[in-house]
Amino acid sequence: MNTRDDNRTFSFELFPPKTAEGMEKLKGTVAELNAVGPKYFSCTYGAGGSTRERTFETVDWLCAQGIETAPHLACIGSDEAEIRGIVEHYIGQGIHRIVALRGDMPSGMGSSGLGSFRYANELVAFLRRDYGERFHIEVAAYPEFHPQAPNADADLANFKRKVEAGANAAITQYFFNPDAYFEFVELCDEQGITLPIVPGIMPITNYTQLARFSDACGAEIPRYIRKRLEAYGDDKSAIRAFGHEVVLDLCRRLLDGGAPGLHFYTMNQADATLALWRELKLPAAR
Ligand code: FAD
Repeated sequence: MNTRDDNRTFSFELFPPKTAEGMEKLKGTVAELNAVGPKYFSCTYGAGGSTRERTFETVDWLCAQGIETAPHLACIGSDEAEIRGIVEHYIGQGIHRIVALRGDMPSGMGSSGLGSFRYANELVAFLRRDYGERFHIEVAAYPEFHPQAPNADADLANFKRKVEAGANAAITQYFFNPDAYFEFVELCDEQGITLPIVPGIMPITNYTQLARFSDACGAEIPRYIRKRLEAYGDDKSAIRAFGHEVVLDLCRRLLDGGAPGLHFYTMNQADATLALWRELKLPAAR
């Protein structure tokens, strides 16, 4: 298992486009992003198989370009045979890295048919049991705690369970307060959790979208950021310029404080992520 002393990992996250045009556009975005040499690209997956074919299309295309790819795999709403089918598909594509998640049931699917795995730790245990060390397994971490957790201690205990099931590393939900991350890492240290916990970084480019996501996933937008972004109204370039400075400062503090890398939620856009990458002078992985 890795430790925090390993080389830092810088990676990019994509989501599978809904249309053929979106896919064509994504190819151009990936070419731009790949030019700076990230360690890998990850691609999200809709729980219950809701993006299965589109995730396959994106992942297969990335693999065909010779790009190291980490598909996300969300287990809720799927039975073991379905999950196994997906894993076998990825093995056929030569994949060695998976982001293992519970996921959230798409609205309208209700709680019936939750599937064979209720929580991410069960998916990690299944991958280790049936596929040994084939995969480098990333799991999700929540420095501001998962919104459904009854309390911080229970969430940390659940995180520990995922780690003990065999995760190699974790990627965090995005956050804007570096103290939340450092406190979380310290709590993990106290619990003997020593795997690399890579901060998830959300570039700020669109306030309405950011506010919606943050409400849904429990990420806090500090008041001074929210107020400034609100004040810019429709002024997209002012939002981008302020957002760039805020997130750049966050990344600097995280790296200076010893974060083992950064995972950028690119939102399938290159510019904002590349501006951060270049200003931070991040190293190419190859
Ligand atoms: P878990 O670790 O299973 O935790 C979920 C909740 O259950 C937590 O509140 C936890 O405290 C609690 N819990 C865990 N184990 C137990 C237990 N044994 N008993 C009681 N409570 C327990 N979603 C998608 O649908 N597709 C994606 O591609 C995707 N990618 C993501 C990538 C990253 C880096 C992150 C941070 C999140 C991503 N998500 C994705 C969102 C994620 O699926 C949701 O946050 C989901 O609600 C939790 O998933 P998890 O894997 O963290 O779940």
